[in-house]
Amino acid sequence: MGVVVQKYGGSSVADAEGVKRVAQRIVDAKRAGHQVVVVVSAMGDTTDELLDLAEKVSPIPSPRELDMLLTAGERISMALLAMAVGNLGHEARSFTGSQAGVITDGRHGRAKIIDVTPGRIEAALGEGAIAIVAGFQGVSQDSKDITTLGRGGSDTTAVALAAALRADVCEIYTDVDGVFTADPRIVPTAQRRDRISYEEMLEMAACGAKILHLRCVEYARRYSIPIHVRSSFSKLNGTWISDIEESATMEQAIIAGVAHDRSEAKITVVGVPDKVGEAARIFETLADAQINLDMIVQNVSAAATNLTDISFTLPRTDGTTAMSALARIKEAVGYDSLLYDDQIGKVSLIGAGMRSHPGITAKFFSALASAGVNIGMISTSEIRISVVVDEMQVNDAVQATHAAFDLDSDQVEAVVYGGSGR
Ligand code: ASP
Ligand code: MG
Repeated sequence: MGVVVQKYGGSSVADAEGVKRVAQRIVDAKRAGHQVVVVVSAMGDTTDELLDLAEKVSPIPSPRELDMLLTAGERISMALLAMAVGNLGHEARSFTGSQAGVITDGRHGRAKIIDVTPGRIEAALGEGAIAIVAGFQGVSQDSKDITTLGRGGSDTTAVALAAALRADVCEIYTDVDGVFTADPRIVPTAQRRDRISYEEMLEMAACGAKILHLRCVEYARRYSIPIHVRSSFSKLNGTWISDIEESATMEQAIIAGVAHDRSEAKITVVGVPDKVGEAARIFETLADAQINLDMIVQNVSAAATNLTDISFTLPRTDGTTAMSALARIKEAVGYDSLLYDDQIGKVSLIGAGMRSHPGITAKFFSALASAGVNIGMISTSEIRISVVVDEMQVNDAVQATHAAFDLDSDQVEAVVYGGSGR
């Protein structure tokens, strides 16, 4: 009898009806003969509401207390879910992240899982119970304080537990039927993928596809845990994420999908003296400020002035921190000025088939050109091409690219069942 880990997101347990519906699915899995471990997120928009509340009492809440507050959201849903399962005649026991053995480092709000010691979960399963675990939280190894893994972190909890329990599969239940070739809210004719490789999913997650947390995919790849992303609102088969063998890649689609991201901003450092060590100084400063950069472009310096511009993208939420960190080294670097632009969007084309098919970039860029979309910045990996465009043109860019690569389905199959999209 294999272990199955199921994760239900906030939109799946948004209200009492949702909790009951999910409880029924859990019981179905148990009846089918599995040992069932469930990871649950906070109900609906609870996490956002708790954040709003915190902001009302303190503009800069203590990170320790904020984590304590936010983890309450998952406690509510896990206890309700355990009750609802009990009501269907099966024993369920709920556990906080700490009780489930999720040990993290001490970084509040973005803790990393260091170890999972699921002794109590195994004991519950051994006694025939269903274990229900609060997602997105753990306990710091050193301080013993309660931590959270960052927004959307319940996916990572689920995969980490699946790895520790050597589960057969980690099922991620959400409000869409799987991974689509583009966000169905923008491209209604987007197609669901039956399967996709870890590396493609990693690129999609990193490029703004909100379906899975990036760290969850990294974790799954490291421990070879197959993920099945599917809807909790339908019985349809979803998308399987796993290693795709070489032989299978022949029939693999060339392009996995088109992702977009509206959460980044662009900073340009204007008039940087073109000499050794300046870029290092700029990027060391940003690293010290704990800023994660995405794309970086340095212009060829103008011969007359020997000055160059350096532009990079970063999360909008880090914009102010980055600007003030850079302002502090203005004299030392000797640059002219800083420009900040948060009216940008990133559109990415992802597919393992790019490695073996030439001409993908040309086709992508000409699709953007025909849609009248101007490209601001470009970056690539082996299996991805990303461009920065005007935020207002993101939808046009996604639609044009999706059509140019024949990804449109002839029917509308994507249903978005729940969620406020908040
Ligand atoms: N409830 C948390 C959030 O909204 C964690 C999660 O949903 O995975 O970010
Ligand atoms: Mg949530």
